[in-house]
Amino acid sequence: MIKDREKWLEHASQKIKVPQELIAKAFKDEIDGTPAMDAPLEIPDIMDITYKYSYGGISRFFRELRDNRRLYGSKCTHCGKVWLPPRINCNECYAPTEWVELGETAEVVTYTVVYYGTSTFYDRVPYVCAFVKVEGADTLIMQNIFLKDIKMAKVGMKVKIQFKEQRNGDMGDFWYVPADGVYDNV
Ligand SMILES: [Zn+2]
Repeated sequence: MIKDREKWLEHASQKIKVPQELIAKAFKDEIDGTPAMDAPLEIPDIMDITYKYSYGGISRFFRELRDNRRLYGSKCTHCGKVWLPPRINCNECYAPTEWVELGETAEVVTYTVVYYGTSTFYDRVPYVCAFVKVEGADTLIMQNIFLKDIKMAKVGMKVKIQFKEQRNGDMGDFWYVPADGVYDNV
């Protein structure tokens, strides 16, 4: 039992930025119960983690995007299948792959409309998210397609790549717009 319950909760809430009622629930036994003096004591705490995320063997894909506005796939040295997203080894025959530059155009194979976006494209909703087959690739990649009107979206439509002006080396660095030039400049 914690003597100054309110003060303890207030302090804990400020410390870990969680509402008091949730902390009260999570620490009910310690706050309101009578745990044995030797029972493990748990306290509210917070962990901020920053770290380096490594792209490992597919690093070149992201550097080409960021530095050269180029889209690269990986081609199997044994069966010739071109993977996008790239794989360092072929998913089918496990042979190593080599980098190949892909085309600017793609075809929409299937799509959906996003009404609740994540932070990167939050201000773009509603937008189309599609599996597209990029010129030169044998697999599909999921990317966003920005249209003046989402009703323009259709299976089989031709789209072309557009790169973000300020690229960071991540999947948000590019998207697709209609190949015929009718598009929103994002
Ligand atoms: Zn292969």
